[in-house]
Amino acid sequence: MSSLLISNARILRDGKLTRANILVSDGRVKSVTQNRKPAAEITVDAKGRVVLPGLVDAHAHLYDPAFTYREDFTSGTASASAGGVTTVIEMVLTTPVDSADRVRTKIDAGRRTSLIDFSLHAGMMNQNNLANIPAICGLGVRSFKTFTCKPYYADDHTLMSLMRETSMNHSILDVHAEDEEVANENFRRLQAAGRKDPMAHTEWKPNSAEQVAVQKLIRLAREIMARIHISHLSTAEGVAVIGKAKRDGVKISAETCPHYLTFTRKDMKKQGPYLKMNPSLKGPSDVAALWRGLRDGIVDIVTSEHAPGTRAEKEPGWEDIWKAWGGVPAIETMLPILLSEGVNKHRITLPTLQRVCCENPAKIFGFYPRKGVIREGADADLVMIDLKLRKKVRAAELHQKVDWTPYEGRMVKGWPVLTLRHSQTLYEDNQVVAKPGDAEFLQMNI
Ligand SMILES: [Zn+2]
Repeated sequence: MSSLLISNARILRDGKLTRANILVSDGRVKSVTQNRKPAAEITVDAKGRVVLPGLVDAHAHLYDPAFTYREDFTSGTASASAGGVTTVIEMVLTTPVDSADRVRTKIDAGRRTSLIDFSLHAGMMNQNNLANIPAICGLGVRSFKTFTCKPYYADDHTLMSLMRETSMNHSILDVHAEDEEVANENFRRLQAAGRKDPMAHTEWKPNSAEQVAVQKLIRLAREIMARIHISHLSTAEGVAVIGKAKRDGVKISAETCPHYLTFTRKDMKKQGPYLKMNPSLKGPSDVAALWRGLRDGIVDIVTSEHAPGTRAEKEPGWEDIWKAWGGVPAIETMLPILLSEGVNKHRITLPTLQRVCCENPAKIFGFYPRKGVIREGADADLVMIDLKLRKKVRAAELHQKVDWTPYEGRMVKGWPVLTLRHSQTLYEDNQVVAKPGDAEFLQMNI
């Protein structure tokens, strides 16, 4: 394999941008030098642009064999490549991935059809598949998804059993944290009032639903000494209770997603069912608290929570919001949105972006220092970004299967321009050039 030199790049070192020449070959970073330019067969002049480690997206729904009309490994990871994401942890959707056999089947599908390195979360976990945890861990999958609400509701007894089992097996319990009782109470009220409008969905699980669930999980995790990860945090209350739990030494991490950082429930008035998601969008003070949580290190990571549905699955929601698919396409727009709304609007710094999108997800899920960092010996998974490039988001130019995006027409400043995986070009000049077939399944070394 030929050697490639990215010259005149700027990379983050100790929180500061510094000039760097990055030499890569055989899929690895060979050297990072400041002044010396090592010889290479191919040289790419970065012209002072910033190069980040390829992003590690720890929560994306890319492949469910029952829903390949929405996305599959190849289309989803093409979209990821164009968005600077070079590692993905695929999240179970509706087809269970809860036994060693099912995990193996999904790993095989990923190896055959993914363009980027991947790992998996197993799920949805409950009393019936709890005994499979050791065998699944044996395959290198050490992250297990469960819910505190429907449709995969786990009662307290189940949550505690899962925490015991995951903690005995040195793994993580990932939880969709919205309280079932709070949701039920609101649902009864909304149904009695005949509410089917898009805004009704945002009233179903208000801030208290997340707060109550996260609080309960923290209390249980503290007692059992389990390691838990809160999926897609959406509220200021959630940030506050997690901040306190971290100060108290609870083994908890949390993620939020681009949509919770950029939209509020008000945006649903215009976009209606297209912004239906679970958890639902909240208010401006929640958005501010989530950005603050990223800066303060309380919210550890940003994930895309890529969960596209087709227009046909969204449209019925104008009439009856309960009938619409919940979820948005997000993997390709995650980095541009964070650069534009975060870095370029001074809500977070570039070092924070690198921490929450590269370093922390690689550390939490056990891929560090192979992923999430630019240094000698790490995988040559890199993304070159143009912080000044201004371009409108157009679904027609994205690489996902569905033909819409909630960011349609939004002017975004800051885009990836080149993505490499294992020193091979994945994406360049608006084109995904990689072919499936050599993606690696990554074991979680937790
Ligand atoms: Zn999800």
